[in-house]
Amino acid sequence: MASVAPPTPTDVLHRLFGFEGFRRQQEQVVTRVLAGQRTLAIMPTGAGKSLCYQLPAVIMDGTCIVISPLIALMHDQMRAADAVGIRAATLTSADDNRAETISRFRAGELDLLYVAPERASGQEFRNLLRETKIALFAIDEAHCVSEWGHDFRPDYRLLRPLLDDFAHVPRLALTATADTHTRDDIAEQLGIAKDGIMVAGFDRPNIRYIAEAGANSGIASLVKGLPGAGIVYAQTRDRTEKIAAQIAETGRRVLYYHAGMEPQTRARAQAEFVSSEDMVMVATVAFGMGIDKPDVRFVVHAGLPKSIEAYYQESGRAGRDGDPAVAHMLWSAGDFTRARGRLSELAPERHEAELARVDALSHLVETPGCRRAVLLRHFGESPSETCGNCDNCMHAPDVHDATELSRKLLSAAYRTGQRFGMGHLEKVLAGQQDERITQFGHDQLSVFGIVDRSEAAMLKPLSRALQARGALVANEHGGLKLGGDARAIMRGEQKVEIALAKPGNARRGGRPENPIGNPLFEALRAKRRTLAENVGVPPYVIFHDATLREMALTRPTDIRALGRISGVGARKLEAYGEEFLSVIAQY
Ligand SMILES: [Zn+2]
Repeated sequence: MASVAPPTPTDVLHRLFGFEGFRRQQEQVVTRVLAGQRTLAIMPTGAGKSLCYQLPAVIMDGTCIVISPLIALMHDQMRAADAVGIRAATLTSADDNRAETISRFRAGELDLLYVAPERASGQEFRNLLRETKIALFAIDEAHCVSEWGHDFRPDYRLLRPLLDDFAHVPRLALTATADTHTRDDIAEQLGIAKDGIMVAGFDRPNIRYIAEAGANSGIASLVKGLPGAGIVYAQTRDRTEKIAAQIAETGRRVLYYHAGMEPQTRARAQAEFVSSEDMVMVATVAFGMGIDKPDVRFVVHAGLPKSIEAYYQESGRAGRDGDPAVAHMLWSAGDFTRARGRLSELAPERHEAELARVDALSHLVETPGCRRAVLLRHFGESPSETCGNCDNCMHAPDVHDATELSRKLLSAAYRTGQRFGMGHLEKVLAGQQDERITQFGHDQLSVFGIVDRSEAAMLKPLSRALQARGALVANEHGGLKLGGDARAIMRGEQKVEIALAKPGNARRGGRPENPIGNPLFEALRAKRRTLAENVGVPPYVIFHDATLREMALTRPTDIRALGRISGVGARKLEAYGEEFLSVIAQY
């Protein structure tokens, strides 16, 4: 019997996914997997991680076992795989077709089988794996195996014996986050040699980074101006509900999500968000871990994130489809006070690392330079000095040497006993009399009235900046005392610069790529919505916005031309081709 040559990766990429070429690191990873080499792929969200095992799974003989930590995530990915014609199933406690899945698996009818780590590591599952051919183990969210990662799951530690039991089966671990330390640990825990670590760049060029000192009160108006679906991260359950109510008043569709809600209500909110094209979700940071929604257009942080890593990961939930997206952070001096206040509750050995975390964040918000460069340098890259797609690159702020003014402000805090808030210190420095000032004799101090009017205008942002860097520390009543490098600043050994946005520069706003208002594009979107509702999948599973945009632009008139559009694979062409062609024919 003549053997048929297996399809090449490029064939499958084109036929199944409708893509002309691989993105970034994909090809390298796929090639290694097909050669049976153990690999740890570090790829940013949006770089097309899942394709790295889906594609080999189609080519290789046998089933690819995908280990994933969250049921909702598995279901999203199964749906997307299914839509392009990959034979995929999930085996979880939430599936009532388990018996059917097991018999399909035994019969070799599955390309992908998704399971959770606790099931995968059990003896029963191991016995099942011996009954048919296993092509590959794909370990998704592999940082969960490392205690150094931000999301350690003990169940992931149980995978190693399983993997070693099937030592001949190639293994591919995937994660979007990992500093070098965590990276090495993941590889070691999963038995992957160091030269098997493939790192794709961390840059997400389609995300516009914006950071702004601002109160939460501005969030509703900010969100109102951002088109498409988006996530607002708030720090507490209470805040999520309040912010959601404010956004609702602007007329936008909005839901909230936090751990205090009934699981069913929460699941419903999540499903509604995933299938929407324009909904806002106000949530605590747990939201988003388990969803695979590529068309999130913005992520707003209502308050300081926990760390640069957390910020990168949370903001990275925007724009996975590669279309323009916005990451907008609103921070306050109080966020830094709280973050630095928590340091004292930590064991001494963790102090240094945590302090570095907060300092890195303060650098990100205080920099007059490119924010993307700050992020990328944090991950060990050497980016160019400007990116052209962050607030500072687009509207360079004014940089002021505030060393002298800092010395005045810090002296005022010191001389008044390190217990007064900014309002009082401003009056002292500006030489404004009031009852308290006279009562405490602060008008007799050498710092009374030493700043002029133009300097006075800079005191508030300066106080914010000094709190961000830790030189001023607020107590629970807002009283400011010296901290960090305050004394070095007062002695003139340390320079202080602050970056202030130029007045009149709109630093806000997204850059919608979609030709909103283009009748053909809108009609294609409407068709997509109808089809999505009929099939019971989110619209992006049918086609991404970019694919519809290209249709609206090139107006293909036959199936062949439609099939040449990026994102239109054979399966989707057959399922939806005629429907979309008929829409195009009407315009
Ligand atoms: Zn920039």
